[in-house]
Amino acid sequence: MTHYRSLNAMLRETFGEKVYKLALDGGFTCPTRDGTLDTRGCVFCAGGSGDFSTPVGDSVPEAIERAKAVVAGKGAEKYIAYYQSYTGTYAPVERLRRLYQETILHPDVAALSVATRPDCLGEEKLALLAELNRIKPVWIELGLQTIHPDTARYIRRSYELPAFDEAVEKLRGAGIGVIVHMILGLPGETPDMMEQTARYIGRSGAEGIKLQLLHVLEGTDLAADYRAGLFETMTLEAYIAVLERCIEAIPAEMTVHRLTGDGAKRNLIAPLWSADKKHVLNEISRAFDRDMVRQGRHARD
Ligand code: SF4
Repeated sequence: MTHYRSLNAMLRETFGEKVYKLALDGGFTCPTRDGTLDTRGCVFCAGGSGDFSTPVGDSVPEAIERAKAVVAGKGAEKYIAYYQSYTGTYAPVERLRRLYQETILHPDVAALSVATRPDCLGEEKLALLAELNRIKPVWIELGLQTIHPDTARYIRRSYELPAFDEAVEKLRGAGIGVIVHMILGLPGETPDMMEQTARYIGRSGAEGIKLQLLHVLEGTDLAADYRAGLFETMTLEAYIAVLERCIEAIPAEMTVHRLTGDGAKRNLIAPLWSADKKHVLNEISRAFDRDMVRQGRHARD
């Protein structure tokens, strides 16, 4: 039984061959770090989730070769160039044009994926993304994390929900694929609240979702609150239980890009069980079999 529509299934359907992600770092910052909206960044963020990404520096082709070396041996010939660090559209449009045009025109690149914020997608940038999307597929990944205003304030997301709705509408209007990130286990959130966020994303018009466990990382303000005993992180059992609810609440055709985090992180404080990604994925798979999880089962409830 297929429990959910995985990224691999979608990639096989779309490209008909093995396609791997190349994690690239375009040297961006973000408005919650440079003082425009805040200087502290999001409360959980230890540096733009670009832990494993290759800095592009002056040469896109060289960076692509270096990033390919990281995933060498997996048998891929085509790649998704994934700009995952910080806010990938937070730069003057001419800089973005140079970087992304060179990337998307690279013969080994099958698609371009850019992680960004809904409030960093002005008209000129949207026009550029639409233009690039006519060359090869462009996907935009939006870090929503939660639909609940109190949590959004606590994590210092620094944009309101309507900004997300508007960005998804405009991106979809331009034919660009949208993937939305949500975090399970944010302080103060109940399983019901997490399911509500998943359901909202499922109805937003986005094509993909990334479900991610809250990690408490060294050096973040979240770590200080954790050490002060202000919240607890999820157990593996609780995580899987809410994951099942989220998967069943989203439409069957939505692609699930991720079910958990990236695994071992050098600065992980909690929950430590998440460092063993293989074990976590095995447990998820066992639970999905046991509970006969089916994506979309409750999407219309
Ligand atoms: S999560 Fe994204 S928007 Fe928030 S501080 Fe980190 S890079 Fe910036």
